[in-house]
Amino acid sequence: MLADKDRIFTNVYGFQPWNLPAAQKRGDWDKTKDLLALGNDVIIDKIKASGLRGRGGAGFPTGMKWSFMPKEPRPDRPNFLVINADESEPGSCKDREIIRHDPHKLIEGALVAGFAMRARAAYIYIRGEYIREAETLFAAVKEAYDAGLLGKNACKSGYDFDVFVHRGAGAYICGEETAMLESLEGKKGQPRLKPPFPAGAGLYGCPTTVNNVESIAVVPTILRRGPEWFSSFGNENNKGTKLFQISGHVNKPCVVEEAMSIPFRELIEKHCGGIRGGWDNLLAVIPGGSSVPLVPAAQIMDCPMDFDGLRALGSGLGTAAIIVMDKSTDVVRAISRLSYFYKHESCGQCTPCREGTGWMWRVMERLRTGDADISEIDTLQQVTKQVEGHTICALGDAAAWPIQGLIRHFRPELERRINERQAGNGMQEAAE
Ligand code: SF4
Repeated sequence: MLADKDRIFTNVYGFQPWNLPAAQKRGDWDKTKDLLALGNDVIIDKIKASGLRGRGGAGFPTGMKWSFMPKEPRPDRPNFLVINADESEPGSCKDREIIRHDPHKLIEGALVAGFAMRARAAYIYIRGEYIREAETLFAAVKEAYDAGLLGKNACKSGYDFDVFVHRGAGAYICGEETAMLESLEGKKGQPRLKPPFPAGAGLYGCPTTVNNVESIAVVPTILRRGPEWFSSFGNENNKGTKLFQISGHVNKPCVVEEAMSIPFRELIEKHCGGIRGGWDNLLAVIPGGSSVPLVPAAQIMDCPMDFDGLRALGSGLGTAAIIVMDKSTDVVRAISRLSYFYKHESCGQCTPCREGTGWMWRVMERLRTGDADISEIDTLQQVTKQVEGHTICALGDAAAWPIQGLIRHFRPELERRINERQAGNGMQEAAE
């Protein structure tokens, strides 16, 4: 189990105040000027050496992403950092805890990361429903300005850096990085075609990097404690500590910081008090937020909870939002409900997603009641393959994958419902 001394987020449960004096006591904003004095490229190299991979779901190496930004920004095209706090994936609730209870980690991280990528400013795009969190964030940013930590000559470093907080309006798709840029620009939040990628033409057409809240909030601690310390946790290629969010049928759902690659069973036993009704009662787990395929109980027990371990099981770590389902779960209904979510959140730009998500949901509903033909299971599978990878953004994939996971692992359950329904209909006809 991760020792307390190795935790980055020491106030994730809000036992102490979030404000600047309390944050400084916890070590935030400690000699930030010296961190900046390391120099842009040294900071990027250290983040690369730490092995940090993006915590927003895709797991792209963070330092490498920063290195794509222009080294000599033109005065009329400044570099920007955009921080994705739109946390809308069902099951995800970690960035909320950071912003509520440890906002200065994020704000200091914004300055350091922004400086490293030669950004003029950071925009924190926060989910519209996070009302209290946004209030805290606004207040924390103001504290940082009042203390001279942000703005002109931030932390007396000679570097000018602004942080703006922008509230979203509640659309899931604005968590997609290019839709977020559109929304920040005041337009309808619809994903852009890529290329150009944001590092070439992002916010207002300027070079932009979009990073998740957790990816940015861990940066100052990594620099203070050293990349070797961070990379001492986790398996090869899956380094560091991570906030796991465990919901569903465990005895004590929680958000907890743990070492990457901790086995599933150990994570649940140590922090969640085990599975409701015991381990034999575990049915399946959605390990990375609602968009990744579920994994049946037997396969996930000893799986290392990291990017590569879960990919090997045909699923993904995503945001490490772990949704646990015990045997009381109607798994077909659960996945059908997710299908409805993605249908509802499709922005409608591309046909496979706009039409496919609704079509898949309607078939899922009939599979839920058994009111379908066995052959439709294969048809549904084929349609998910026609949606996956054929859309502008990853929402199409996100809608397809949970269904693919269900068919892969629970086909007998789908068939049972159809057969029972048909047998029931047959008996009814005979009686008539
Ligand atoms: Fe919009 Fe869906 Fe296309 Fe993404 S995949 S751009 S959400 S229609």
